[in-house]
Amino acid sequence: MSETIKQQLVNSQAVMPKSRKRIDEIPFPRIDPEFCIDCGECRAICPSKALVTLDDVVFINESKCSKCRLCAAVCPVEAIH
Ligand code: SF4
Ligand code: SF4
Repeated sequence: MSETIKQQLVNSQAVMPKSRKRIDEIPFPRIDPEFCIDCGECRAICPSKALVTLDDVVFINESKCSKCRLCAAVCPVEAIH
C-alpha cells in the first residue's frame, strides 16, 4: 500500500469519530405544547415513527429520533424547535 493511500485511510478514520460526535451534540427537537394544535403533520412525516400523542400532547421518543428535523420543518405553527 502506498504511503499516500495509507495517509488517506488514517485521515478518513480520524474524521469519522468527529462526525459522530457532532451528531451527538445536535439537540433533539423540542415541542412547545402551548402552541401545538395537534394537526398530526409531524407524526405523518416522521420517518422514524418517533412521535406519539398522549392526552392530546405530542412527545418525541428520543430513542427512535434521528434528529432529521423534518417534524420542525412541517409544523404549521412552529411549535417544534
Ligand atoms: S427529528 Fe426526524 S426522527 Fe426526530 S421526531 Fe422529528 S421527524 Fe422524527
Ligand atoms: S406539526 Fe406542530 S402543531 Fe401539528 S401536531 Fe406536530 S407539533 Fe403539533
